[in-house]
Amino acid sequence: MTARRDFAEVVPQRNSTRDFLEALDAVSQLITDAGEDALARTLMVIGQAARAGAAALYRHQAGGLSAQHVAGWRGDVSLPADVAAKLARLDYRIYRDLHDTLSAGLMLERHVSELLPATQVMLGPIGLQHLLCVPLLDGGELVGFIALAYLDAPRRREAGEPRFLATLANYLALALVRHEAESRLRVNAQRLSTLVGATEDMVFELDGGGMVINVWSSHPALPSASLVGLPLDRAFPQDMAWALRQAMPRALASDGREQFEFTLPRLEGAIYCIGRLQAVPSENGNGRHLVALVRDVTELMREEARRRSMVETLDLLEEAVIELSADGRLSRVSAAWSQLRGGDESDPQSLGQPLSEFVHPDDHATLVRAYGEVLRSGEPVTVRFRLVRAVGEPVWLEAKLLPNWGADGLAQGLRGVLRDVTAAHLSEAHIRQLALYDGLTGLPNRVLLDDLLNQALARARRHGSRVALGFIDLDHFKQINDAFGHQAGDQVLATLARQIRSVLREEDVLARWGGDEFIVMLPDLPDLATLSNVAERLREIARQGVVLEGIETRPTISIGMAVYPDNADNAESLLRAADSTMYHAKAMGRNNVQFYGDIVHLKSIGREHMAIQTRLNHAVLGNELQVFYQPIVNARTGEVSSVEALARWHDDVAGWITPQLFIPMAEKLGLISELSEQITVQALTKLKGWRERGLKQQLALNVSRNLLFSPRFVKNLIATVEEYGLRPADVMIEVTESLALTDHARQSRHLRQLHEAGFRIAIDDFGTGYSSLSQLHDMPVDVLKVDLSFTARLNQEAGRRIMQAIVQMAHSLGMEVVVEGVETLDAARFLQGLGVEKMQGFHFSEPVPAGVCELHMQLGLDGKI
Ligand code: C2E
Ligand code: CA
Ligand code: CA
Repeated sequence: MTARRDFAEVVPQRNSTRDFLEALDAVSQLITDAGEDALARTLMVIGQAARAGAAALYRHQAGGLSAQHVAGWRGDVSLPADVAAKLARLDYRIYRDLHDTLSAGLMLERHVSELLPATQVMLGPIGLQHLLCVPLLDGGELVGFIALAYLDAPRRREAGEPRFLATLANYLALALVRHEAESRLRVNAQRLSTLVGATEDMVFELDGGGMVINVWSSHPALPSASLVGLPLDRAFPQDMAWALRQAMPRALASDGREQFEFTLPRLEGAIYCIGRLQAVPSENGNGRHLVALVRDVTELMREEARRRSMVETLDLLEEAVIELSADGRLSRVSAAWSQLRGGDESDPQSLGQPLSEFVHPDDHATLVRAYGEVLRSGEPVTVRFRLVRAVGEPVWLEAKLLPNWGADGLAQGLRGVLRDVTAAHLSEAHIRQLALYDGLTGLPNRVLLDDLLNQALARARRHGSRVALGFIDLDHFKQINDAFGHQAGDQVLATLARQIRSVLREEDVLARWGGDEFIVMLPDLPDLATLSNVAERLREIARQGVVLEGIETRPTISIGMAVYPDNADNAESLLRAADSTMYHAKAMGRNNVQFYGDIVHLKSIGREHMAIQTRLNHAVLGNELQVFYQPIVNARTGEVSSVEALARWHDDVAGWITPQLFIPMAEKLGLISELSEQITVQALTKLKGWRERGLKQQLALNVSRNLLFSPRFVKNLIATVEEYGLRPADVMIEVTESLALTDHARQSRHLRQLHEAGFRIAIDDFGTGYSSLSQLHDMPVDVLKVDLSFTARLNQEAGRRIMQAIVQMAHSLGMEVVVEGVETLDAARFLQGLGVEKMQGFHFSEPVPAGVCELHMQLGLDGKI
């Protein structure tokens, strides 16, 4: 041992020599073990060798302003705790001469009396006599000192003893510094290996020749055990060793990192590794070593390969894939995105922009809703919106949005797969339009209405509000259609739809029920006043009429209204109630709006619409219909000049039902010829009786359109009249104005045949369908029956002028005028003044049973004028 040999040369050949050699042994053992115990033992040996009562080791502190007690041997000295505490740290600013002497490499020996007064007070009671401090120097630097305390007076020191102590101190300093360096190193190495051990990376050290010097951490796929001391070719698999060998010269020559890669073949699939080599100074300062870090990147490679192939696949798809940050900005877009946008390949401007930038403003809300839903539910949501393109029209996209989960389990944003569905969307919209809207008027059809109605009822149920439903029917639409052609008919419907729509509120619905029937739905009615408001406006529309090809037609409408929940508690019965009310409105005369609530007696009809048809069938086939007669009075004399036969039906359930309800119903059911035949037979039977009793009055018979069309009608009628021993001149045929104009050629042929056979022809309801008399010019018409709606307006100046014009024109065409609906004496007098030949109306008589009528026929009604 070198220390021992050096020491032998300086040791004085004395008794104490053995002690000092022992001390030297102890100190040199500190080189390998400088733990606390070893230090204390060494201090004891040194103290005893120096014949001291106690020994302490002080270590310089960082900054050099103080010294810290690190180990001690108490020997014979008993040190009170408070003194020991005070001596644990010595401030050099107080013990300045101690610091200066030791720093100069000299020992300091002092008698207690030479110390600072405070120190004397502290040490005196312990019995210390003097102190010897030996500096610990490392490369000339003071790193600490050994303090030796003596309980006896200073003795003469043996020759060489100071030098001997100094040598011991030098060795102690060396051991101390080295120990500290090593423990620092150990701590660092531990820290490093904990650090790298936390990763899955393998970290090791090679010397310049490729020998493994250190292994700090390992990787499960790589060998780990006892590699230290092996050349890398034996330590590592072939491919790895080869790659390391290739990289080593470059790494040793440079200050940067060198990368290397290798693959380890494995049964379950190759392992891909990348490594880095970095040159470091070797520990002994002898050339350079290499620290290697090897990382298994198999998963990353697979991930990357997957990602790359996914990205490639995505780029091939027509669907665009996008990623959105939490605040809705585009963080990634696939190639198809720019195609959807209609821009160039890269479209770099999109990234970082909010998606909404590219979305049609009308669809923002939809998108925001979908966003919220995805983030809230965590479930995918499909949504449609319009993407604004760089150029041209927006495209419709269908987007499937999914949440993007973060490591914390919270959604960090969204992913979306976007598909161009413009074509599908438009054709769907078109199909929806076709399926839900009427082609002619663009109004909702039955299907949509049904939906809207149910929604409205559900809302009304929740809010306790009302829903009104109006059934609108055009009177005489078929005649318009026939007279002017289908195109004109369509035009009337479309115009009327527009007009009705214009008086409705935004939230009201006007739907086409089919043919000439419309439905108006007024949801969320605050009160019934609003309802009558709307009804009044509708009534106004009905009065306005429609201008068609320059000719004013007045397609009157009948409206039946029913209200939820007042009249019905569900959609179906509400519709039925409105429907039957509409029939009632027709019966009450045209241009009419009726409310279900006002026609309580018809409720049963509404509910039993089907049943009533069945009963009508029975009534017609069972010959249960009756005929009432209404006198037509000579305006000058008050005599009854003719009587009009009007069909009557008394239903066991609903009571008296108006012909305006059951005549159209009979037409629809194909019962009209049977019905007419019954009425005709009954009326002719009566007329025959009247003739036998000397009464001369004519009989007016209403003939419906279908009947007039039938080829055998004229022949049959002539035959029947003859059968009863009557002449055609005894009968006047009433056909409606529009009916008379329909199918002109055929119609007028029939009318002409009737006329030629001797029947009188009257145009009924004149003024309701057509405003010009000129077309009646060529027709074989004898009598014009002016519709009662004109009579109703005789209380107004305008109404009176119209009546006057009609009467004048009729006379100029050589026709006799019958005015219907005369209800007052005033009207009768006025008409008389106009030169009207005949009058008919409640003022004279309502339609009455044959017996009552016969009295009027005999007695006349001259008392009425
Ligand atoms: P219409 O041919 O115009 O018959 C006149 C209608 O006016 C009758 O209604 C009559 O009761 C009503 N009326 C008469 N005077 C007045 C009045 O002063 N004021 C008011 N407000 N109304 C008055 P009714 O009997 O309900 O008949 C309705 C319609 O049913 C008839 O209208 C006719 O078109 C049809 N009709 C009636 N019987 C027959 C029939 O046997 N065959 C055919 N084809 N149709 C018939
Ligand atoms: Ca009539
Ligand atoms: Ca009439």
